[in-house]
Amino acid sequence: SRRGLTAVRAYGTLTNKSCDRTNSVIWRCDDSDSDSVGSGSGVLSGTSFIVKDNIATKVGYTTAASKSLHDYQSPFDATVVRLLRHQGSKLVGKANLDEFGMGSSTTNSMFGPTINPKYDNEDRIAGGSSGGSAAAVAADMASFSLGTDTGGSVRLPASYCGVVGFKPTYGRISRWGVIPYAQTLDTVGILSKDVDIVEKVYEVLNQYDEKDPTCMTTKVRNNIVSTAKGQLTIGIPEQFIIEELDQDTKIAWELTLHKLVQLGHSLKVVSIPSIKKSLSTYYTLATAEAASNLSRYDGIRYGYKSDNNNEDDTIVSSRCESFGQEVQRRIILGNYTLSSESGDHYLKAAQVRQELVQEFNQVFKLPHPLLENELKLNNCDVLVSPTALSKPPTLKEYDEKNEENFLNSYLNDILTVPASLAGLPTISIPINGTGIQFMTQYGDDSILFSIARDVL
Ligand code: GLN
Repeated sequence: SRRGLTAVRAYGTLTNKSCDRTNSVIWRCDDSDSDSVGSGSGVLSGTSFIVKDNIATKVGYTTAASKSLHDYQSPFDATVVRLLRHQGSKLVGKANLDEFGMGSSTTNSMFGPTINPKYDNEDRIAGGSSGGSAAAVAADMASFSLGTDTGGSVRLPASYCGVVGFKPTYGRISRWGVIPYAQTLDTVGILSKDVDIVEKVYEVLNQYDEKDPTCMTTKVRNNIVSTAKGQLTIGIPEQFIIEELDQDTKIAWELTLHKLVQLGHSLKVVSIPSIKKSLSTYYTLATAEAASNLSRYDGIRYGYKSDNNNEDDTIVSSRCESFGQEVQRRIILGNYTLSSESGDHYLKAAQVRQELVQEFNQVFKLPHPLLENELKLNNCDVLVSPTALSKPPTLKEYDEKNEENFLNSYLNDILTVPASLAGLPTISIPINGTGIQFMTQYGDDSILFSIARDVL
C-alpha cells in the first residue's frame, strides 16, 4: 500500500477487522504521515477532517469509488485540502461515495454501500453521493468533512444522517483538484454536527483561486451585498408542498415555520413555477456533462486499461469493465441528449434553467451579482423547504425500488436540484429527525449560518 495509507476496505471486502459497520471511510491516513498533518497553528488547529474520495489528496489514493481510477495517486492536494491543512486541520481519511458522485444513496461504489450510523439495528442508506462524508461525521470520526454537491449530494446525506450540510454559491469555493461530474453544477460542500465549525471552514475556503476558471472573481465577491441579521422575510415556495412528503417531514417543516415566527421573522408563500421542471432539466444537463467528462477514461489516455489487447476493443472493454451500472446509464443518457436524434433536449433544458434562475431572482430582495435589468416580485431574504421527502429507506427497500425503475432513485433529488440549477447557497440542518434546507440569493451565503444557528 502507498505511504501514509491504510486501506480500510478493498473492492467491498473488509480488510481491516477493526473498521466500523458504516463503511464510510475507505482510506485512513497513518498518524505519522506528514502529508496528512496540519500546520499546527491556524484557525482550524485541533480539528480533523475527512475528504470525499473524488477530491485529490497527496496522501493515499483518489478513486472516486470507481474501478477506472482504482490505483490513481494524485501528485498534489486539491486547493480545498491545501487550505484546510494550512489552517491546522488534520486529514484523517477519505470517504466513500457513489461512483463519480452519481447517485443519492452511496450504494453505487466499488467499495460497497455506506450504512447510516443513525440507525443501530437496521441497515438504512446514508444518502448520497457524499454518504461517506455524512456518515463519518455523524459517527464522530472527524470534526467535519468535505463532500461535493452537484444536485444535492451534500444536503441529502446530511438530512439522512442527522448532520449539518452546506452547499456554497456556485463558484465560491475552488474546485481545482476535484474530479468533475457536471461542471456547471459542481460545488464543494461542508458537513459537520456543528454549524459553527461549518462556518469556520467556509470562511477558510471562501476565496478566489486562479487555478479554477469557474471560481468567482474578486471583483464579483467585492460587489456582493449581504443580508443583514435581524428580522427576515422567509419565503415558502409552494412548488415544494408536494404529496410525496411524508408525515414526519411535514411536521418538521411546520415546527421550523413556528420557530421562525417565534424568532420574529415573517413568512410568505411564493411561487417559482419552474421548480416543477427542475428534476428533468437537471438530469438532462447533468448526464450530458457527465458523458462528455467521462470520455477521457478510455484506458489509453486515462483510467483502467483492460487486458483485452485487441486494438479495436481496448476502449470499449476498458470502459465496460471499469464503470459501474449507474455510470454507464448516465453516459448513455447523456450521449443521447447530445446526439442529433434527440432533437434539441439539451438546449431546451438550458432554456428552462435560465427561466428558473430568473424566477428565483424575482423572489429575493437582494440583487443578483451577475444579472442585469432585474424584475423583483417578492421581498424574500431566505427560502425554506424540507431537504428530503422522508427518512432514509433500508438498503433492501432502496434496491427493490431501484430495480423496479431506476427513475425512483432520481426522485429523491426533487427538493435539492432547484437550488443547484440556480447556483444558490443552501444549508440543510437536522430538525426533528429530518433535514430542513434554507436557500438564499446567489452570493448571500453567510446569512445561512446565522439562521441555521437560530433555528437549531
Ligand atoms: N443524486 C444526484 C445525481 O446523481 C446528485 C448527485 C450529486 O450532487 N453529486 O446526479
